[in-house]
Amino acid sequence: MRLIAGHYVFTGREFIKNGVVEIDSAGKIAGLSSLGDTAIEREHTEFFNGIITPGFINAHCHSELSHMKGVIPQHSGMTDFCKSVISYRNIDVDKQLSAMYEADKLMENEGIVAVGDISNSDASVRMKKDSRLTYHTFVETLNLNPCLADENIAKAKAVKRSFEREGLRASITPHAPYSLSEKLFELSVAEANRSGIISIHNEESCDEMELFAKKQGKMRNFFGKEMDSFLPQYDNPLHRILKYIDAETSMLLIHNTHTSEQDIRDALSRNRKTTWTLCPASNLYIENRLPDVNLFATINARVAVGTDSLSSNTNLSILQELKILTSAFPETGLHNLLRWATLNGAEALNLDSELGSFDRGKRPGALLLSAIDFKNMKLTDNTKVKRLI
Ligand SMILES: [Zn+2]
Repeated sequence: MRLIAGHYVFTGREFIKNGVVEIDSAGKIAGLSSLGDTAIEREHTEFFNGIITPGFINAHCHSELSHMKGVIPQHSGMTDFCKSVISYRNIDVDKQLSAMYEADKLMENEGIVAVGDISNSDASVRMKKDSRLTYHTFVETLNLNPCLADENIAKAKAVKRSFEREGLRASITPHAPYSLSEKLFELSVAEANRSGIISIHNEESCDEMELFAKKQGKMRNFFGKEMDSFLPQYDNPLHRILKYIDAETSMLLIHNTHTSEQDIRDALSRNRKTTWTLCPASNLYIENRLPDVNLFATINARVAVGTDSLSSNTNLSILQELKILTSAFPETGLHNLLRWATLNGAEALNLDSELGSFDRGKRPGALLLSAIDFKNMKLTDNTKVKRLI
């Protein structure tokens, strides 16, 4: 049994001052308490300067794109970013695999214990099988030609099976409201509803908002007239998702850079398990714009945090994402940020029976966050993360 203590323990829900986490030899949480005054108690406790928190959950990543680090220019906007991803996607398989292994190690060193990972193929199966992290793979569908919808779904099911055969969690998900024919969109959301979970890019860019509001613009010009078969039905990207989603499907909406208060209310009235997944470093990289984080905090909507991929980020670090949110939205409490990075992500990915909080019997890992501004309870530029378990 290890007794690990810090100035504060963040349980996944709240802080305990001078908290102690009891962890057994298998890494399971045996209990939580406050540090007593007796010498004997202190003697058996490892005390760390900082905050002890459960392992971080990276709610959104694309490990398949790890070889694109530094390749795509910043602030190019969404349509040009999509063009670049398409042109750099195909690469030598060994190079892609070694970049994925490196990305996995990077995440492990950053205190990440689980990842919601978008995949278009089975290229990441081996890496995920070898990894110490828990992955939920979202097998992504994406095609605007309705004649290919049945073929696309059959292919996605085959990819999903190749993960499941190796004991890895996987489900099918549509890429975004703008990149699938109506038929493929409907089939893909039906598959997601069957698995009880969906992860879809939502309201990420000006181009996407313009496409749905005006049925024209850069994205319409790039993707072409196949979009015209569904665009008239929707005035906003989110409404396309809400048309098909079940109330009880865990719905991870990714980015939400242009999401309004009305959108949040619309989603919550249709779906009881909506998680607004923020990837601020990626938003700054592609569009140099951030979502209205105060809006989510004020309405008390469930938020989680992701890194997105190395094609639109310089690192795969949840701590780095939290630092960006801290400096852009200083009024956001640290207890909120840490909850978003731990328990909320675990709940959204249906991994909360094992991960995300220091509840007895879970194996969430334990991290030390050092160099905290305790006076204001804030992360600082110098805050570092270290795995204790
Ligand atoms: Zn993404």
